[in-house]
Formats: sequence, C-alpha cells, structure tokens
Amino acid sequence: MSAPASIDADLLVHSAQVCTVPPSAAVDPEPSAIRPAGPQRGSQLGDLGIIADGAVAIRDGRIVALGTAGDLRARVSAAAEINAAGKVVTPGLVDPHTHLPWVGDRADEFEMRVAGASYMEIMAAGGGIMSTVRAVRDASTDELVEANLPRLDRLMAHGTTTLEMKTGYGLTTADELKQLEAIHRLDQTHPMDVAATFLGAHAVPAEYQGRTDAYVDLVVEEMLPAAAQWSQRKQRPLFCDVFCEAGVFDVDQSRRILVQARELGFQLKIHADEFEGLGGTALACELGAVSADHLVTTPEEDIAALGRCQTVAVSLPGTPFGLGHTGRAYTPARSIMAAGGALALATDLNPGTCWCESMQFVIALATRYLHLTPAQALAAATLNAACAIGRGDSAGTLAAGRPADLLILNIPDYRHLGYRFGTNLVETVIKAGQVVVGPG
Ligand SMILES: [Zn+2]
Repeated sequence: MSAPASIDADLLVHSAQVCTVPPSAAVDPEPSAIRPAGPQRGSQLGDLGIIADGAVAIRDGRIVALGTAGDLRARVSAAAEINAAGKVVTPGLVDPHTHLPWVGDRADEFEMRVAGASYMEIMAAGGGIMSTVRAVRDASTDELVEANLPRLDRLMAHGTTTLEMKTGYGLTTADELKQLEAIHRLDQTHPMDVAATFLGAHAVPAEYQGRTDAYVDLVVEEMLPAAAQWSQRKQRPLFCDVFCEAGVFDVDQSRRILVQARELGFQLKIHADEFEGLGGTALACELGAVSADHLVTTPEEDIAALGRCQTVAVSLPGTPFGLGHTGRAYTPARSIMAAGGALALATDLNPGTCWCESMQFVIALATRYLHLTPAQALAAATLNAACAIGRGDSAGTLAAGRPADLLILNIPDYRHLGYRFGTNLVETVIKAGQVVVGPG
C-alpha cells in the first residue's frame, strides 16, 4: 500500500473553524472540482460549508487543498504554517458598492445635519455632492491616487480583499476619465482587487441644473463612448451605473443611458429605490443588470421580479444608519429572500452619507435591521457580494483552485461576526496567498 500523495504548499493555515461559503449548486459530485459560480439565492442564503477543525493549503497564490486539519497536516508539506486554533477562517470580504475614489471630506455638512439642518440649508452652505465634485475636479490623478491608498489599507485591515469603485464625482468627460484612471492605478498599486464602474449619471451637475435631459445627452453621446474607448485601451471591463431616483434620473432617462451602455459592451448596475420606488429594480431585471443597489422602497412586484431574474439585490444598510434614518429605512431583505432573490451586502462608502470602511460593521447592521442571521450576512458579504460584481468565479468562496483570499478572525465561532461590533475582529488577511495584514 502506497502512502497518500503529499501536497507541497507555501502556507498551511490549520485548526480553525473554516467557512468555505460554497456556491449554490450544492450537490457536488467531486469535492475537489471548482464548482459553478452562482450566488446563494432565497432560502439557500447562509450555507457556510463549515469545516469544524479545518485547514487551507496555499501554493502560488491559490488554494491547493481544503479539508480537516488532521487530514491536511498529514498530507501537506508546507514551507510555513499558521496554527489558527480557536479562530475562524472565512473568504476575504467583498464590498461590491463603494464611491471611492474621492478627495476631501464633508465633516461640516455632517455636523450641520446632526444639528438639524435641512437638505436645502446644507446645499445653500455649499455642501452636498457638488462639494465633493468640486474637490475631485480640482484634484490631479496623482492626488486622487494618494488620497485613496490609505483608505484601501484600512478596508483591507478590516477584511475587504475585493471591492468595486465608481466614478461619479467628475461629471465632465475629462473628470470622469480622470477618476477611471485613478481607479485603474489604485488597482495596479494596491493588493486589493478592484472592479471599476462608470457612474457619469451620479447626479445632475450644477451647470446642468434644470436641464437633466441635456446632461443625459452628454452622458450618452460623449461620456459613454469615451469611457468605452478607455476600457478597450486599458483592457479593463467596466460596469455602467445610474442613480435612478426622484429628482435625479427617472426610469426613462436611466433606461436610455443603460441601453446605450449595454450596446457599448458595459455590464450594468443601478442605484434604485433608495428614497422612492420608481421602477429602477424592474428596469435592472429587464436589462439583465448584474446588480440593483439600495432597494429600500422597492415595490412588491419588483421584489417578486428579483426572484425571477439574475440581478443581485445589493443592500447598503450603512447608508440609512449614516443618515440616522429610522422606521422602514432598510432593505426588506427577508421579502427579497422569500421571493427567491440573491441578496448581497456592501458599504456604499462615500463622504456624504456613509463613510464606513468596514464590511464587519455592515454585517452587524444587517443582522439587526435586515434581520439576517450571521451566516446569511456572511454569505451576503462574500460569495453573493462577489456575484454582484461578476466575480463569483474568483472571489467570495474558499475552494481548491481559487485565489487564496482569506481572513483569520480572532473569534471562536463565526456567529461572533455581527454579534460583536465596533472593534476589528480580523487578525490576519491573506491576499493572493500573501499575508498582507498580520497580528500586531
Ligand atoms: Zn452608491
């Protein structure tokens, strides 16, 4: 009888509670095979695929074996080992909706808002989104990159290993392209993996006030073709997103932008139903958008549509929290799950309404205000979040053959995620097989 084949590895993490968060095709005839990538839909959400006393072997940046600690410690010959006894290993967290990169801050506006100032008073004092637009227009690409690298460091220290970034603070063709360039350079400079989104239709800029259709003309006729050319030149696929909301872009204007974007090769996203349920979610399903984001005031029929289409519903509970909203301010997550929809979580990280750099805090909010269990929130912040940026085949799941993006959390059980908040539970971050954040 021959000895079991040995596996060479650069690193073996062992003796932890390992949460693999498997894709939803749960019947897997061959455990070592890469499963088809798909979100956990409806009541499937929360399958963590736990290996109680588990281990992960890593070589050349990828996972080469997963199993029990006893099995892998016998079979794996590793150059380095981490004993994670009494701790939890999860996939790196995925943040599928941020408004990085920007410069400046809006602390003045926050102070006014908590003191009771109205939206109009804040605008009159020079606050609101246009103050960030002015700051970004005034910044160079270098300044945008420099200002946002420390934010990526903090996000990664809190467990995010893949995220999405958007334009939308330029609102001219040149300034939108400048933001795209900064996103591209941040991705190349930092270990974080970055998905890029063009959001020229984030707001109607001051110089187009009262002429929204003229601004939509600019987006469709000039900005989108320029962004598509940039995308081809850089070999970098782009999403196109629109802020579909009362007083911003209505459903017809959003459709016009997204249909043109789809023809130019963009994948689609939409900001929908944050304050008013206009029909943006139904539009996302109709156009085959990868995600529809916010979804607070989503009409019943649009929730039902999410159960029948591939569009991932991305909830951003940091935003109503950041605005101090109460009552029915949060995504009706349980209704979306009951309809069979695929639910994901994101920060919405932005300087106006939600400066939150921690997906752990989003998980804590989701357990309380979306009424998700810790297991559901973790799956929504990993696998399903990856699916919301078209990366379900590379991020959000621990499986042999996949990139080794994983966290060691200094907690004895995954249910401490969400339960505990306000401190960072991540002890070690391993990105593409490299320890990028370690204890101390
Ligand atoms: Zn947003």
